[in-house]
Amino acid sequence: VESSVQSDMDKLASDFPGFRGKYRLIKRIGEGTFSTVYKAEDFQYDIYDNSWDFDDDSSKWTPPPLKRHGSHPSSEHSQRRRPRFVAVKKIYVTSSPARILNELELLHDLRQCPSVCPLITAFRNTDQVVAILPYFRHGDFRAYFRDMTTHDIAIYLRSLFTALKSVHEHKISHRDIKPTNFLYDPSTQHGVLVDFGLAEREGTESKPCLCHEHRETRKHRQMSSAWAQTVTSSQPGYPKSDTRLSKRANRAGTRGFRAPEVLFKCTEQTTSIDIWSAGVILLTILSKRFPFFNSADDVEAMIEIATIFGSKRMKAAGLLHGCVFETNIPTIGQQGFTMEKIILWSTCRTDDKPLTAEEKLAVRFLERCMDLDPSRRITAEQALEHPFLQIDQP
Ligand code: ADP
Ligand code: MG
Repeated sequence: VESSVQSDMDKLASDFPGFRGKYRLIKRIGEGTFSTVYKAEDFQYDIYDNSWDFDDDSSKWTPPPLKRHGSHPSSEHSQRRRPRFVAVKKIYVTSSPARILNELELLHDLRQCPSVCPLITAFRNTDQVVAILPYFRHGDFRAYFRDMTTHDIAIYLRSLFTALKSVHEHKISHRDIKPTNFLYDPSTQHGVLVDFGLAEREGTESKPCLCHEHRETRKHRQMSSAWAQTVTSSQPGYPKSDTRLSKRANRAGTRGFRAPEVLFKCTEQTTSIDIWSAGVILLTILSKRFPFFNSADDVEAMIEIATIFGSKRMKAAGLLHGCVFETNIPTIGQQGFTMEKIILWSTCRTDDKPLTAEEKLAVRFLERCMDLDPSRRITAEQALEHPFLQIDQP
């Protein structure tokens, strides 16, 4: 272990009274904007629980029970005892207390959910907070995503959508669905959703958005000048100094994974923002390109999406939320491209090697996840019933 990491671990262990008697920190496994995560051994682990823990050098590991859609969390799940290895998530003090409390509260609410990494316990010492989670072995997405077969993709997504279904049933949006927050072990084909640092309960933002209005009302309101704030420019590109009144909405999430309604600053975002992000993961896998979207800011992100979908559909998507989308960027066409074309191009496949029937099914599913209109986008529950997520079922 690197000496600076070792000294951080020593400090963490001594900052919390009694920590050393309970856990032995082993190594650092993650470092993000809001936290550092360590792997540790829990001295009080329960030898009868082998559902999460495994030895580093042991290939034998019993995965947590896989929940088929439609089934309820089994009692084994609620009776799970302490695993041997844990992830110690040290949440930075720069994170606001409300934010830390939110993450812990939501994790507590979701403790019974299949494919969601449960919270074992949490400690606070003055302004420092650590969360203890079962350690879940996982692969590095960048190392395995290019080799996934269509079957592998279906299994991966069934695991992810199983988690999303239960999170969404609790009326919670994760808000940061991306590969590093879905820990997946390709060898066992199990995954768990982690990182509820940006998650929120639906309806937290209660300002009404046009997208929730009846079609006729929306049409009428779109005509009124208050909504139609257009900006025009003679130069190709977009204005850097926009003087129009700004709209406020929750924009939390990761670049490249933000749903169009997040970019259009919809004030009534729903759990369907997570479905879009899951769609971006699928697009990444199918196109074998990571990151697929690589924008520096929200306007660039809109341009990337508009390039695929075309200005016509993008304009309609903006109007749903009272935004006028105008562009004179030459690479954005009216009609855009089909997802099938995008995938064939990204993987450098020509007409002599068309998509297989299963790949076409994956593309049809992708189009349902990446619907620009959040109200028409597939839900996690419907996704689990989609033929693509059924292809590996006996
Ligand atoms: P952040 O808010 O800093 O992104 P995360 O909860 O996403 O924190 O954790 C960061 C990283 O730490 C993850 O991408 C993963 O590699 C690792 N990690 C988090 N939780 C676990 C866990 N339960 N088991 C194994 N590794 C984990
Ligand atoms: Mg994370």
